[in-house]
Amino acid sequence: MASPLTIVMYHYVRDFARTRYPGLKGLDVAGFRRQLDHLMSSFRIVRMEDVIAAVRGEAELPPDAALLTFDDGYAEHFDAVFPILHDRGLQGSFFPPVAPIRDGTLLDVNRVHFILASAPSSAPLAAAIDEAVVGAVGEYDVRSVSDYRSEWAHSNRFDDAETIYVKRMLQTALPSALRGQVARQLFERFVSVDESTFAAEQYLNRDQARLMVDCGMYFGSHGKSHLWLNHVDTATRIDEIEGSLDFLADLGMPVGDQWVMCYPFGGWDDALVEILRARSCTVGLTTRVDTAQIGVDDPLTLPRYDTNDFPQ
Ligand SMILES: [Zn+2]
Repeated sequence: MASPLTIVMYHYVRDFARTRYPGLKGLDVAGFRRQLDHLMSSFRIVRMEDVIAAVRGEAELPPDAALLTFDDGYAEHFDAVFPILHDRGLQGSFFPPVAPIRDGTLLDVNRVHFILASAPSSAPLAAAIDEAVVGAVGEYDVRSVSDYRSEWAHSNRFDDAETIYVKRMLQTALPSALRGQVARQLFERFVSVDESTFAAEQYLNRDQARLMVDCGMYFGSHGKSHLWLNHVDTATRIDEIEGSLDFLADLGMPVGDQWVMCYPFGGWDDALVEILRARSCTVGLTTRVDTAQIGVDDPLTLPRYDTNDFPQ
């Protein structure tokens, strides 16, 4: 029998009145508190262990179950989110990629967000990217600007076409070395702070994550380097998964026959799901927007709502 589960996805949850980057798209801490009030009055907030047990047929979820998930391992997940959840006796499920915590690197996805938050609009960024594409002909395996634009410049629920074009070109569309180079130039030009100091400020660290685990928070896999796992070869997929499991084991999370994958960018395909199934992954979280139906949906591709889908 299907058991509905409302999974809510969060990224940045910041004190926006006191940040250098008020243009960043995210949820204000006060809005987060209000949203929790709303969710707690409309749903029963369950723990990831309850969801795992329901998926395995060992227990049932309440009919009004909701689960809170936090992607990308930001510092504010420790500073702001964790104390609020802990005070209310709630569990959050956190999905930090390994590289920023272990190596202090700034993720491409975040570099792009802060470039967009700091530039006057996405137009000069898109123009600079187009210029870089034209300049890279002969040196890199690039396609034409019009090809890239027709594939990637499409608006979605949250962003206009020009913004999506900037994000996708710098996250996945351009050859890896070229997009790294272009993104670093734009970061220097528009964000203009030291990138390694900046990276250290952005993410929670290992000891903070361990404390959160000790206090009952759940941690799952979001890969090592936050890649679109459906766009990389099999060896890279396995390396990304195994590297993240080593990291989770070090935090004290179970990684044997029950663990959770949260797909970076929501990117998955059938081959990836089969790799995860063979590795005894229990639950997979996508970015498809819907209520999950435990007992009906494939547990390795469960849909999630965005925080913006609920009152804040
Ligand atoms: Zn992510």
